[in-house]
Amino acid sequence: MRPAELNPLFAQTTRLAGVGPKIASLIEKIAGPSLVDLILTPPISFIDRSKRPTVAEALVNQRATLRVQIERHEPSSDRRRPYRVLCADETGFISLVYFHARADYLEKILPEGSTRLVSGTITDHNGAKQMAHPDHVVDPDKPEDMPLFEPVYPLTAGLTQGVMAKAMRGAAQRAPDLAEWQDLPWLNKNGWPSWLKAIQSMHAPESAADLSPASIARQRLAYDELLANQLALALIRRSRKKSKGRVFQPASELRAKANAALPFSLTGSQEKVLSDIDKDMQGPDRMVRLVQGDVGSGKTLVAFFAMLNAVEASAQAALMAPTEILARQHLSSLTPLADACGLTLSLLTGRDKPKQREANLNGIERGYVDIVIGTHALFQESVRFKDLGLVIVDEQHRFGVRQRLALSEKGADGEAEPHILVMTATPIPRTLALTAYGDMDVSAITEKPPGRKPVTTRIIPLERLDDVVAAVARSLQKGEQVYWVCPLVEESEVLALTAAEDRHAHLKQHFGDAAGLVHGKMPGVEKDAVMSAFYRGDLSILIATTVIEVGVDAPNATAIVIEHAERFGLAQLHQLRGRVGRGGKAGACLLLYKSPLGETSKARLEILRETEDGFRIAEEDLRLRGAGDLLGAAQSGLPQFQVADASAHSELLKAARDDAALILETDPNLSSSRGKALLTLLYLFRRDDAVKLLSAG
Ligand code: ADP
Ligand code: MG
Repeated sequence: MRPAELNPLFAQTTRLAGVGPKIASLIEKIAGPSLVDLILTPPISFIDRSKRPTVAEALVNQRATLRVQIERHEPSSDRRRPYRVLCADETGFISLVYFHARADYLEKILPEGSTRLVSGTITDHNGAKQMAHPDHVVDPDKPEDMPLFEPVYPLTAGLTQGVMAKAMRGAAQRAPDLAEWQDLPWLNKNGWPSWLKAIQSMHAPESAADLSPASIARQRLAYDELLANQLALALIRRSRKKSKGRVFQPASELRAKANAALPFSLTGSQEKVLSDIDKDMQGPDRMVRLVQGDVGSGKTLVAFFAMLNAVEASAQAALMAPTEILARQHLSSLTPLADACGLTLSLLTGRDKPKQREANLNGIERGYVDIVIGTHALFQESVRFKDLGLVIVDEQHRFGVRQRLALSEKGADGEAEPHILVMTATPIPRTLALTAYGDMDVSAITEKPPGRKPVTTRIIPLERLDDVVAAVARSLQKGEQVYWVCPLVEESEVLALTAAEDRHAHLKQHFGDAAGLVHGKMPGVEKDAVMSAFYRGDLSILIATTVIEVGVDAPNATAIVIEHAERFGLAQLHQLRGRVGRGGKAGACLLLYKSPLGETSKARLEILRETEDGFRIAEEDLRLRGAGDLLGAAQSGLPQFQVADASAHSELLKAARDDAALILETDPNLSSSRGKALLTLLYLFRRDDAVKLLSAG
């Protein structure tokens, strides 16, 4: 149960004065549903009213706070014209401008002949300075009525700074003083304030330095967040390790059969990762391992060999892919090997016909099926395994820690739980890997199968579309195949679809029926039909939205054209590029951009031209864009931090990892007084899932 002292923070934002359901839903977009989310949203800039320029010094289109004499009121006779109040200081004139003004009110706050401090944005009106609707008008004898510094928060359409700032103030006022969860010597060493002081100071910036991630308030709050993240992962990891593992010896007989059927041998890197897996599966603990390997590094085969360990011991294995297309591809690439080994594979997706599904489920429950390949449909209640020994999740970056937690509970009753192997093609910078995968052991396939030809990458402006089409035509003449990717349009799937359809129509004029179209909005059956036609070679150019992104393998594809490459994340472009050059022929990747291209966008695309090393690309992407944008973070399964910044706070992240390990070593049940405060910290960052593992023992 969440500690009662946190309850005020977990109240809905509608509790705040001035926040109704409509404003709350806008605030939710920026921050979140509760007061705690508001409190943890840092300001992005601030207004400084501490300097007092003269009217002559005040710059147009900037905010200024002026001390002026009120000269004359000029009410308007016409509702469409504004009410003007003419003001001056020794250096010049400025008028205050009010639309739909109430004369009596303005006369009261701006009496003629008085002196006033007025604050707002200066604009130009036919060469004269004016200020429309000042934010503040105060008597210079009561300067305390005007805040000298005011934080500025991120906004969304319909949400104004005034409303947001007021909600923030309301939320911050309700923040309780909480018992310290950080180690005191560590706090003192860093000169960090208490949590409450840090919150208050984060929301009261008075200089650019105060807004920086390096400010002591931000550091403290970032460290809180990172510690909550690392502590939660450490708890999850510990509880997984606690469950006993099934003991599986490395499959000898089946492995020999599979090796005999393969036209090549495993790379050194594949062997190394497999030996990590073998060790885990033989050991007393349950395996929870992540295999990182760039596109084309041969993860599928490693997965298959791992599954053989379970199958040779008469247990079952399940391989889960993020999309139906990929599940089918795994099925077709593994079927020959499974046949050679005398094993039964089956495919389980959300789209199976009822009869077929029933037969399939029956086979799985009775144990006739050795290896089940599927989508997340694999983990529905109705799927019962006779004896599930190993679960493999492919292309894991679509799943987060929470999903991994959910999927680990499918073993036979009373037995040890199945081993878990997660495979990802998304190279994640080391720092981020810590935040996302701190709950697992990690192996990396660092080497690619021999014979891979490099992929030449070129960066081309969209204006040269005709040249690109001509180059594609030359490839097709040689009997090669080409992908043509149209980007996702963030704001609108409909627009994205139109773009892809238009391009398809355009390319059809050149290539006729050899051009096919596939997109995410197509019914699954149609999508599969188009994809299979491409694998068979019936289509030679495939126009696609990003549905082809992950893992799909067409060895004859030698080129990929990506339109509006500047809109994609680097990791995503790298993934897409990995689609070509798989069949031993040199590949080409043409990145089309819309000019003009900004400096950063250009630098980003250049990185792709320079290297095919996925890890380097990921590091650079992180450096150039920051963690928030990496991989289109929302659907990436990477944790989203509120205050912490994995790039700016990477040193703190490492410290938090060590801190979390030490905490669990010295206080395994978090029962000391610091331990109790740490529980509060976990709840504060909504890691109730991890807390539950603790109380379960
Ligand atoms: P990914 O890591 O992207 O999932 P895949 O497992 O799809 O990569 O492998 C890509 C291609 O490389 C496949 O066609 C596969 O048959 C081939 N491959 C895998 N391992 C080897 C190897 N050791 N030697 C040669 N080719 C290999
Ligand atoms: Mg793969």
